[in-house]
Amino acid sequence: MSAPNKSYDPVEVSALQPDELDGARDAALAAIAGAADLDALKQVRLAHAGDRSPLALANREIGALPPQARAEAGKRIGAARGAVSTALKERQAELEAKRDQRVLVEESVDVTLPWDRAPKGARHPLTTLQERMVDVFVSMGFEVAEGPEVEAEWFNFDALNFTPDHPARSMQDTFFVESEESGLVLRTHTSPMQIRSLLSRDLPVYVVGPGRTFRTDELDATHAPVFHQLEGLAVDEGLTMADLRGGIDAFVAGMFGEGLTVRMRPSYFPFTEPSAEVDMQCFVCRGASVEPGADPCRTCGSEGWIEIGGCGMVNPRVLVACGVDPERYSGWAFGLGVERTLMFRHGVEDMHDMVEGDTRFTLPFGMEI
Ligand SMILES: [Zn+2]
Repeated sequence: MSAPNKSYDPVEVSALQPDELDGARDAALAAIAGAADLDALKQVRLAHAGDRSPLALANREIGALPPQARAEAGKRIGAARGAVSTALKERQAELEAKRDQRVLVEESVDVTLPWDRAPKGARHPLTTLQERMVDVFVSMGFEVAEGPEVEAEWFNFDALNFTPDHPARSMQDTFFVESEESGLVLRTHTSPMQIRSLLSRDLPVYVVGPGRTFRTDELDATHAPVFHQLEGLAVDEGLTMADLRGGIDAFVAGMFGEGLTVRMRPSYFPFTEPSAEVDMQCFVCRGASVEPGADPCRTCGSEGWIEIGGCGMVNPRVLVACGVDPERYSGWAFGLGVERTLMFRHGVEDMHDMVEGDTRFTLPFGMEI
């Protein structure tokens, strides 16, 4: 009996047997071919090419072989692992291509599908009404003017002939921008646009300026701290109150239809002289509700008249403040409340409805854009 060969490790490594290796390789190749998608292939890769896979374990066991046997075993294991690695790569590429193809089909946008199931939204009734009011004046040749909402006191008050102690300048009525000495206010009316237009445009000037205005009112049924006005200004040679009256008549006809009488009542504004409040005949009852025994009219409160705004001939002091010669030029101006117009034109009784954003209020006005 010869002595054991010290250089030969008698440990039998079954995983290194050729048929075992072939079996492991074939099982791996079959699993790879059978992987239906990338997730499945990931599991196959772990099981057949991962650290604990039969082929990896076999590879690790090469070290336990006698040196003369290692080269041959290494070659066979390398070939098996190479075959598995190549198959994995090919299958990976195939499955990725398949997935990309599927994504293209499934995630494509069908432009022929219906698209308008969600409500589109619409502009606020105040906005559309304001534009309609502006349109009436634009059709008469007026240009649209704009001005800042944070306005210099000089534009908001001084240039418009408000005296330094005029009550409108108090913090009771006006939002001042801090500090009090800043000289800035949130404009209390759209009339500063008159000044800005006269200073920036060549005469004659015919402008209409819609915009947001601010006063320190609490929100209630008839007041809001933020509201909208429509300002109009015409300055030209030879303008008289007859032109003012004609402009208002045309506006009323354009907004409410032909044949409604307009009346003016004496009033006072610092920036017009003379000044007037403008009423129009009620467009619903046309004044009939004032007759004894007639049906009451909700629109005019059976008054027969609806107040629509203030107006007047531009005070010569305002013209002078803007460098316009009052001997040569004269002008007329008006201011209309947009909220007020929406209220009486559409029977809105509460200002809250206009600011709360409830679509049950806005929807009946339609989707006009
Ligand atoms: Zn009426």
